[in-house]
Amino acid sequence: MRDPTDTRALAAGYATSHRLYEYGGVTLGSVCGLWLAWRMANGPGLALGSAVMAIVLGMLLADITSGTVHWMFDTWGTVRTPVVGALAIRTFREHHVDEKAMLQHDFVETNGHNAALSVILSGIGLYASSTFTQVYLITGAIFIAMTSQIHKWAHMDRPPILVRVLQKLRVILSPVHHHAHHVAPHTRNYCITTGWLDTPLRVLRVWEALEWTISRATGAKPRL
Ligand SMILES: [Zn+2]
Ligand SMILES: [Zn+2]
Repeated sequence: MRDPTDTRALAAGYATSHRLYEYGGVTLGSVCGLWLAWRMANGPGLALGSAVMAIVLGMLLADITSGTVHWMFDTWGTVRTPVVGALAIRTFREHHVDEKAMLQHDFVETNGHNAALSVILSGIGLYASSTFTQVYLITGAIFIAMTSQIHKWAHMDRPPILVRVLQKLRVILSPVHHHAHHVAPHTRNYCITTGWLDTPLRVLRVWEALEWTISRATGAKPRL
C-alpha cells in the first residue's frame, strides 16, 4: 500500500491526461469568462450599491465553494478513490505533507482545476437575464478560478506587493488566517478564497455537524 506521507509517490500521480484536463480548464474558463464579460459590457448598467452587493455575494459564493470542496477532499476518500482520488484528493493530501510543494506548480497546474470549475458559474451567467445576477456569477467565477492562486500566494514568503496589501486588508486569504489550517489535524479554516466564512462556520460547528450526519447515514469514517 502506498504511504500517504510519501510526497514523491503523491506527486508521481500527476498524469499527462490530468495535465491536458488542466489546459482545457484554463482555455474553457477564459473563453466563458470573457464571453460573459462581453455580454455584460453590451447589456444594461447597474447602480453602484447593487454592483458592490453582487460582488460581495459572488466572493462569498467562491469562499463557501472553496471551503466545501476543500473540506470534502480533506475529509472523505483516499488517493486511491476512483476518479477524484487522482484528480483532486492527491493535491489536497500532498499539500498537508509539504505545504511549500505547491510553490513549484506552474500556472496551469495551479489554476487548471479551478478554471474548469468556474465554467459552471460563467456558463449559467450566459443564460442570466439580470445584470445583478451576471455580476454575482462572474465575480463568483473569477474568485473560484483564482482560489488556488490566492492559496498559493498565502504560502509565499514574498508575494507581489499588491497581493500583500489585499492580504493585509483581508480582501483575499491572509497567510496568518490560513496558517491555522496547517496545524494538525487540519480541521480549521477550510475556506481558502477570502477566509471570510471560516469564523461563522466554526462558531456554528457546520463541518462537525456535516461529518456526524454523513458518518451516521453512510457509516463512512472521516480522515482515513
Ligand atoms: Zn487541507
Ligand atoms: Zn495551504
